[in-house]
Amino acid sequence: MLSNLKAQPADKILALMAKFKEDPRSTKIDLGVGVYKNAQGVTPVMRAVKEAERRLVAEQTSKSYVGLAGDPAYANAMIDLVLSDSVARDNIAAVATPGGTGAVRQAFELVKMANPAARVFVSNPTWPNHVSILKYLGIETIAYRYFDSETRAVDFEGMLADLTEAREGDVVLLHGCCHNPTGANLNLTQWQSVVDLINEKGLIAMIDIAYQGFGDGLEEDAAATRLVASSVKECLIAGSCSKNFGVYRERTGILMAISDDNTDTKLVQGSLNFLNRQNFSFPPDHGARVVTTILTDPELRADWAAELEETRLGMLALRQQLADELQRLSGSDRFGFLAQHRGMFSQIGTTPDMVEKLRADNAIYMVGDSRMNIAGLNADTVPVLAKAIIDAGI
Ligand code: PMP
Repeated sequence: MLSNLKAQPADKILALMAKFKEDPRSTKIDLGVGVYKNAQGVTPVMRAVKEAERRLVAEQTSKSYVGLAGDPAYANAMIDLVLSDSVARDNIAAVATPGGTGAVRQAFELVKMANPAARVFVSNPTWPNHVSILKYLGIETIAYRYFDSETRAVDFEGMLADLTEAREGDVVLLHGCCHNPTGANLNLTQWQSVVDLINEKGLIAMIDIAYQGFGDGLEEDAAATRLVASSVKECLIAGSCSKNFGVYRERTGILMAISDDNTDTKLVQGSLNFLNRQNFSFPPDHGARVVTTILTDPELRADWAAELEETRLGMLALRQQLADELQRLSGSDRFGFLAQHRGMFSQIGTTPDMVEKLRADNAIYMVGDSRMNIAGLNADTVPVLAKAIIDAGI
């Protein structure tokens, strides 16, 4: 049996990580993997996370199962963080999931369960795992135009035109903030137009929010998600705590399903619980409990928010430094988009050959689609990257 297995395509980002590790050049720069790193190249455990873990170790008296949906306090804390009071709590069903990936997976499974005919519209490009999971589940996927490779901003006209092709019941997957991989995002007026189209055509909104607090601030980054959630009939939200709490390996995510008053939230909740039961039974608890501890303790929450804000501002400063340096070297404003993009990533919009050239000539590693992780830079490596980009003729 096992010898019948076919080799699966390697995850490109994980393959790049391995290649970086093997590179003996001491000047190498890793802009590939999607993990936050500080100026020392370290992915730190956040102060509030350390403290919450200390408390947990001291106070936890049992490791017995919690519940299929996870701890209700976690769901409440996350609903408050992402949605604030934009949606009535009674209309939200939620389950803890193993990371944001788990939430995305369960959301797609829920779509398939509720409407096997639904197609899922994804941005071109999107986080590759969206497409990969959809393919694995046999869900028809349609890419809508998103990134304008000339302006490196959103091709909003193209996006709307493509979404107009969606049929009633189709799902539109949107990145709540800090679009991965491009870094280009809609403004709130554009979000409103998307909401109008969703309502006009009877589409289902799905939002993946994995970087709240990495773009314009915790509240600002949730604004689009809140707008959509409060304005459409039904909405799925896949949330991740991996980045904004730095708890990547703890697998801490949440799926929220919002329905209107005509649907019994208990029915939706039951289906979410069922899906968890089929796939892994109880979701991981440690990261969720740490997050809950932080969000429900005013002091810890304030300290977490402050550290997250430092992180965000650090990335923005690197963006500005890189845009300035490229402006200086090129004598043009064509790299100004780097300071406009938000989140950990920017797609610089060059060819795989150029990306390979940067790797071969300068030991600079970015994903083949020219996505770079801004957090992989520091004040010293920004000029190195800028010079390499100009030398390569990008
Ligand atoms: N969605 C997007 C857009 C992401 O970039 C990521 C992380 N790479 C995730 C979801 C899920 O992350 P995790 O499963 O690690 O929480």
